[in-house]
Amino acid sequence: MTSTLSPPRAGVEANARPYLHGPETDALTAVLLSGQYTHGPETEAFETELAAFLGVPDVVCVATGTAALHLGLLAAGVGPGHEVIVPSLTFAASVQAIRATGATPRFVDIDPATLCIRDDHIRAALTPATKAVMPVLYGGRAVPLPGIRAELDRRDVAVVEDAAHAFGSRQDGVRVGAAGALTCFSFDPIKNITCGDGGAVIPRTPAEADQLRTLRLLGITATPSDRATVTTYIVEGPGFRTHLSALNAAVGRVQLAHFAEIAKRRIGLWHAYNDALAGVGGVTVVDVDILNTVPFHFVVQIPDRDRVFHRLRAAGIGVGAPYPPNHLQPAFTPWRTPLPATEQAAARILSLPFHPALTPGDVQHVTDLLDQALTDARPRADG
Ligand SMILES: *Cc1c(COP(=O)(O)O)cnc(C)c1O
Repeated sequence: MTSTLSPPRAGVEANARPYLHGPETDALTAVLLSGQYTHGPETEAFETELAAFLGVPDVVCVATGTAALHLGLLAAGVGPGHEVIVPSLTFAASVQAIRATGATPRFVDIDPATLCIRDDHIRAALTPATKAVMPVLYGGRAVPLPGIRAELDRRDVAVVEDAAHAFGSRQDGVRVGAAGALTCFSFDPIKNITCGDGGAVIPRTPAEADQLRTLRLLGITATPSDRATVTTYIVEGPGFRTHLSALNAAVGRVQLAHFAEIAKRRIGLWHAYNDALAGVGGVTVVDVDILNTVPFHFVVQIPDRDRVFHRLRAAGIGVGAPYPPNHLQPAFTPWRTPLPATEQAAARILSLPFHPALTPGDVQHVTDLLDQALTDARPRADG
């Protein structure tokens, strides 16, 4: 007989949650009392600090990760009539950002071990209409694509990275964002650092940085110092209202200052799960290249996923299944294509509770319940 559910344990009921260090509240209050909430010195200080941390010349902050992807694609020249190669196994934001430009997604399959795209997937999907590739850095691992970069450059196909999961990870010895792509980060509530909501684009050139700054502020080109001396502004082209508020930037600055602690906790937690699961049969851990990665989540592939999922949810464990594949979503049916590895992975993935406040006891508790749920789901050999 298997024992029934143990009492719910605090912390593990959430799949993910923000982690605050404390000074965020004072930083937020200071900006609130200053009365200056829009784009301003606080946002620019955050951009400078992010650039120093990442080892890049410049960073352009925006309101969300989705806005970062949208504006990044526009800066890469993506528009109507273009195709953007993207894995189907990603948050819907990646695909909606592509649609927002007027371009269409070209969904590709993934490596079953990493759940990321490979060079060969891209090569098979290139067409004369391809204008960009959007690798998704699933779980935080870099997707360097060494075998196809030169060909993409030759064809003038931009690499716009969805690095929403990958803040702080490394690629070829540098931080993700510093390796030459147009990299887009998210600072939403559950990402490696949070602003409440926020995002950033790493521009490839100073001209691209200017373009992104114009796009995020209604197409207005005047700088704050121009505005001090003239009484009007200039609208040069299309634009959105997707700047990062000073309120959000203030939170992000504190989070960034404490990033070493967040990284240590996330990496430690990943290892704790990996070690605890070593003795659990039937579990394959998604390979996030942990030696170079600050992990965003902990995802396993298991048999009988749906049954295990419901059992763990009933036991108060905040499991997830990131993500429902986009090529099967009603909104994206015009671009549906068979993707066997994606469909197989989507039926097997399970994300375990993962956020920096979890303790070794929480990890053991989740692992024990997962082991029990898998045992219960397994057909009995002695039947
Ligand atoms: C979070 C996320 C986004 C979007 O970021 P927001 O800041 O929530 O808009 C895009 N892609 C992936 C893979 C994400 O996880």
